[in-house]
Amino acid sequence: MQSFNFTGLPARVVFGDGSLGQLADEVRALGCSRALVLCTPQQIAQGHSLMKQLGSLATGLFNEATMHTPVDVTERALATLHATQADCTIALGGGSTIGLGKALALRTDVKQIVIPTTYAGSEATPIIGETRDGIKTTQRSLKVLPEVIIYDVALTLSLPVAASSASGMNAIAHAVEALYAKEANPLTSTLAVQGIQSLNDALPKIHLNPLDKEARSDALYGAWLCGMCLSQVGMSLHHKLCHTLGGSFNLPHAETHSVILPHAVAYNAGAAPQAMQQIARAMNTSNAAQGLFDLAVKLNLPTSLQALGMAQADVTRAAELALANPYWNPRAIERAGIQQLLEDAFHSRRPAAS
Ligand code: NAD
Repeated sequence: MQSFNFTGLPARVVFGDGSLGQLADEVRALGCSRALVLCTPQQIAQGHSLMKQLGSLATGLFNEATMHTPVDVTERALATLHATQADCTIALGGGSTIGLGKALALRTDVKQIVIPTTYAGSEATPIIGETRDGIKTTQRSLKVLPEVIIYDVALTLSLPVAASSASGMNAIAHAVEALYAKEANPLTSTLAVQGIQSLNDALPKIHLNPLDKEARSDALYGAWLCGMCLSQVGMSLHHKLCHTLGGSFNLPHAETHSVILPHAVAYNAGAAPQAMQQIARAMNTSNAAQGLFDLAVKLNLPTSLQALGMAQADVTRAAELALANPYWNPRAIERAGIQQLLEDAFHSRRPAAS
């Protein structure tokens, strides 16, 4: 057995169909009695229903959560947190809403209960990205790690099928990069393989029937495992490219992950043969990069940067930006290779067998 380091992160997870019913008990178990509910404008109906369920335990609803956690929104939410004298937040939604809850915790240490309704995995990580003047910066702090996660499959049934597929690919990306991470260890690799397997099985079933509760439940479980991978080890080429493309060209978060992943994996394949075998085995295919590309096709997801609205002229600029800040990756970051990767992703070319 190889040597490794592992630090467990403290979080309570309540997983199950109908687990939302335990919310009031979880608020009280934290020693809290005044919860501020957070959601996006799109999920306001779910936010109101949560308020009703909480009764006197709810002090207010802030419904302006939005993508990439802009600090001006956080400042408005902070004012509401103070005005309502809330002693905990309850973030109901995807990575954007959970990001807002984390931004409040970063500033106040307020306790957090999070109820994820996508597969992005932010709920399981001590990572927060925030945007100020159009620039997104990311940091790690235990202050932002939510105290309690409630996974209730019932809340994911309304996630549109295309968003479900893209979000699931976003989760798979965390597990894929965990398998070839510098700090990979036996536990994160086990989580990663199981996470990929669960999502690879569940996503095509959800694509056929978005109300398939068993598949939805498997996807949510897989998303948690993938989120834990993200929380434990550093990410490399794939996540850095997606960060650049999302931030500089305003491309949609989950869909960008889905388009880039097969190509980032193809780029790293020769430098991470064991990870490639683990991914391919988990997906029941012979080639990891091709398997990921084929899964995106099967899910009817966009497979090109062009389809996400990027202009051909921006490919070279994206490559330059990706080369600007050095970071660890199993294969050295080479200009020609990155340019080729982005061209392949731009034109939706199926990766070659390596
Ligand atoms: P999102 O939270 O932006 O949600 C997208 C849209 O779907 C929103 O309008 C939301 O209200 C709606 N929605 C979510 N769940 C729904 C449901 N069940 N039914 C109907 N509508 C629903 O999308 P996301 O992909 O979950 O999050 C993306 C953000 O999360 C990005 O800013 C990304 O950087 C961040 N993120 C952070 C981490 C981390 O560890 N810090 C990890 C992953 C993602």
